Amino acid sequence: MSLILLGPPGAGKGTQAKVLEQTGGYVQLSTGDMLRIAVAVGDRVGHRAKNIMDRGEFVPDEIMVGLIADRLDQTAHKPFILDGFPRTEGQALALDLLLKEKNRFLRAVIELTADDEELVGRIVGRFTCDGCGEVYNDEFRRLRVEGICDLCEGSKFSRRSDDSEEVMRNRLKAYHSYTAPLLSFYRKQGLLRSVDGMMAVEEVASQIRAILEG
Ligand code: AMP
Repeated sequence: MSLILLGPPGAGKGTQAKVLEQTGGYVQLSTGDMLRIAVAVGDRVGHRAKNIMDRGEFVPDEIMVGLIADRLDQTAHKPFILDGFPRTEGQALALDLLLKEKNRFLRAVIELTADDEELVGRIVGRFTCDGCGEVYNDEFRRLRVEGICDLCEGSKFSRRSDDSEEVMRNRLKAYHSYTAPLLSFYRKQGLLRSVDGMMAVEEVASQIRAILEG
């Protein structure tokens, strides 16, 4: 059954969603990825979103709800993982309605907890292999051989334009102001579970699996 991954930027939502997608038959619905594609393609949504994302602020709810509504229809009843949505109370209320309408259910809302200062360290210096998507960091997860991906041996890498320290601090501020209140929203619905997002990727993944199987 489907789930939401909640947590501050850099807590590992995208990484965990990909692990579950590869091992559990889930479909990852990442609104950040959808927006980055819209920006790259240069469509109407991309034009509206680009500057907002570059500042580390939130794209308006009506755009985000529209994006998710379209993509939920395309999951063809496979269980999905929402990664980066909802981020505001308005989005959470709209999601409740959408799920009711489509007769879809959430198994859990999993909060990945993390310390702000550690997150700034994790995010600033982050880069990704263009070939296989593996995530590295200048300090904590270096390439074994300079310029070559450890996994796929590709040699092209990308950095997100919003992974600077200043923008990261804005993203954290937005998280604490607008997204953290959703924790009590889902706690009241009996759906919320918390996992320490600062543990090793495999440990976080096995705790998430235990929650989903429990
Ligand atoms: P992410 O990849 O999830 O960190 O998202 C990158 C950026 O996309 C965020 O900093 C926001 O500017 C924007 N964004 C992604 N998802 C949402 C959302 N649900 N609501 C508003 N803005 C979003």
